[in-house]
Amino acid sequence: MSTAPIGGLSHSNRPVLAIEGLTVSFDGFKAVDDLNLYIDRNEVHVVIGPNGAGKTTLLDLICGKTKATSGSIQFKDIELTKMSEHQIVHSGVGRKFQTPSIYEALTVFENLEMSFPRGRGVFGALTFKRTQDVIDRVQQVAKDIFLTDYLDMTADLLSHGQKQWLEIGMLLMQEPELLMLDEPVAGMSVSEREKTAELLARISKGRSVVVIEHDMEFVKSIAHKVTVLHQGKLLAAGSMDAVQNDPKVIEVYLGH
Ligand code: ADP
Ligand code: MG
Repeated sequence: MSTAPIGGLSHSNRPVLAIEGLTVSFDGFKAVDDLNLYIDRNEVHVVIGPNGAGKTTLLDLICGKTKATSGSIQFKDIELTKMSEHQIVHSGVGRKFQTPSIYEALTVFENLEMSFPRGRGVFGALTFKRTQDVIDRVQQVAKDIFLTDYLDMTADLLSHGQKQWLEIGMLLMQEPELLMLDEPVAGMSVSEREKTAELLARISKGRSVVVIEHDMEFVKSIAHKVTVLHQGKLLAAGSMDAVQNDPKVIEVYLGH
C-alpha cells in the first residue's frame, strides 16, 4: 500500500468514516438518498431528523444489516458496503440497537466478560479462562459505565438506564473505533441522561461515536457535529448552533 506523501493528507486528518452517494431503495422508495457524511476521530456526531427520515436505516447500512443500492461507506481503508455484518464488527464497528440485548440472568461481570473478543458468545464465556487481562478490562469498562458496584448483580435487577449502560459497556469490551448508538437515553431519568452525556464525552476519546437522538437538550449537551436527515436526504450538517439556525431545518421541524 502507498504511504501519505510528506505534506500530503496523513492518516490522522482523514475522516474515520466517509460516506458518499449512499442510497438504499426499498421497492423504489429511497429510505436513504444520495447521502454524503463524514465523521472524524474523537467526534460525537448526532444524527437527527423527523420520524421516517432514514436515521435507523443509515445505521443499518453502516453495520451491514441492510445492503446499499449504491454509494460508498469507507471506514478507515475498508469499503464496508462489500462486507458482511460479522466482518464489519471485526473491523471495529460496534452498534447498539434501541432495545437492550443483555443477558438478564447473568451478572454484570459475566455480561461484560462474554463480550471480550476472546470470549465471544454465551458458550465462549462459559468455557474460557477468567484470566487477569479479562478481569482488568471488565473492571475498567464497569468503571466507565458507572457499574463498578454492580458487577455481581444479575442484569435483570438493574434499572432501565443501567441496562443501557451495560450494553454500551459490552460494545466497549471490543474496543470499537466507531460506536453507533440508536436513541441511547430513551426512557432514562434526568440524572441518568446527564451521566450518559458524560459517558459519551469520555468514550469518544480516541474513537468516533454516532448517536441518533430526538431529545434536543440532550443533543446540545453531547454533539460536536449534527447531521439533519429529511426524507432520506441530507438537509443540513454542522455545529448544533449552525444547524438550529438553518431555515431549512426550522421549516422541517415546525412543519411537523
Ligand atoms: P427513522 O429511524 O429516521 O425514523 P427509518 O430509517 O426507520 O427512519 O425509516 C426510513 C423509511 O424507510 C421509513 O419510511 C420506513 O418505513 C422505510 N423503511 C425502513 N426499512 C425498510 C425496509 N426494510 N423495507 C421497506 N421500507 C423500509
Ligand atoms: Mg429510527
